[in-house]
Amino acid sequence: MKSLLDERRILRFHQRLLGWFETHARDLPWRRTRDPYRIWVSEIMLQQTQVDTVIPYYEAFVERFGDVRALARGRADTVMKLWEGLGYYSRARHLHAAARMIVREHKGRFPSEFDAILGLPGVGRYTAGAIASMAFGQARAVVDGNVIRVLCRVFRIEENPKTAAVQRRLWSLAESLLPADRAGDFNQALMELGATVCFVKRPLCQACPLGDTCAARKADCQETLPAKAVRKAVPRRHIASAVIMHKGRILAGKRKAGGLLGDLWELPAIQTDAAAWTKTRLQKQLQEAFGIDAKVGRKLEEVTHVFSHFKLRAIPYLCMYVAGRCSCRQWSRWRWIPLDRVGRYAWSSGQKKLLERAAHAVGDQVAAARSSASTLRT
Ligand code: SF4
Repeated sequence: MKSLLDERRILRFHQRLLGWFETHARDLPWRRTRDPYRIWVSEIMLQQTQVDTVIPYYEAFVERFGDVRALARGRADTVMKLWEGLGYYSRARHLHAAARMIVREHKGRFPSEFDAILGLPGVGRYTAGAIASMAFGQARAVVDGNVIRVLCRVFRIEENPKTAAVQRRLWSLAESLLPADRAGDFNQALMELGATVCFVKRPLCQACPLGDTCAARKADCQETLPAKAVRKAVPRRHIASAVIMHKGRILAGKRKAGGLLGDLWELPAIQTDAAAWTKTRLQKQLQEAFGIDAKVGRKLEEVTHVFSHFKLRAIPYLCMYVAGRCSCRQWSRWRWIPLDRVGRYAWSSGQKKLLERAAHAVGDQVAAARSSASTLRT
């Protein structure tokens, strides 16, 4: 595609953006290296996740797994535990699978060919472009949310960027703007500008190095771009979660790998229509779905958690085990976990909130039992 700017203007675009980046780039841990392994880990973690959230996870991860071989040797449970709370857990599974593939098929050396990088599990065009340009200095473009916002505004692209035609146009535009010798810095500079200056709301145009070439700024329509697609209503799901206690232990299972929240631990739960829910029904369904007879006790404070494509409302109930041996088709294994050891297992953020509710409730019970025992003694 022919660029929307002539060569002189492209050169000025490069100079301004790269000059700005040299003095304004944030000092981020993955920017202090050109190690493709570390850049890859950071890029996978940064998908759908804020920089400030990623930093401690990144540091702990590369401390524990310093290179591809160490990650390939690592246990899946350890990888999931390090990812706990970061969300989008299939990223961790793909990262682990990709490390094993690199050891198997590339003798443990991170591949430098673009197509080989793109062939790794969990790596798409954006991530392959980021690794190829930042670690290997190849002239490969990246287009993420920040780049889309900057390009749509600078070039006043008014169509919806989610459509295939506009996506193609944005990728061509990003490629046509790349400087052959500093593609990695240029890509990072575009993303940095989107993250720290060209905000969704109230962009800091006065401080922007591209201010005098920005068509949206000239037309005073910055905040209307990129065009937003009409949002669909987010579906809601309801579950009843059972905090089943037995001799100071709590029943939990590990979800099978592959699906949503695969390889993470969870409390037994039943899908429910919130309106028609009763304790008797939960008791019956725990029997049917988990083979456990339990006495369903009081309802605890509910938890809501937002996933990418639905909103979950979980209503926890404190239950006492009565009889039965657990069996559940959604779990690869299950355990009665002592309450002081739940932290050794990997849970999703929503499940951690449920466990907090459970810990409070059980703590209250213990306190009540202690107080009634001391009353009896007096
Ligand atoms: S001038 Fe304003 S709208 Fe245009 S790229 Fe810079 S910050 Fe964004």
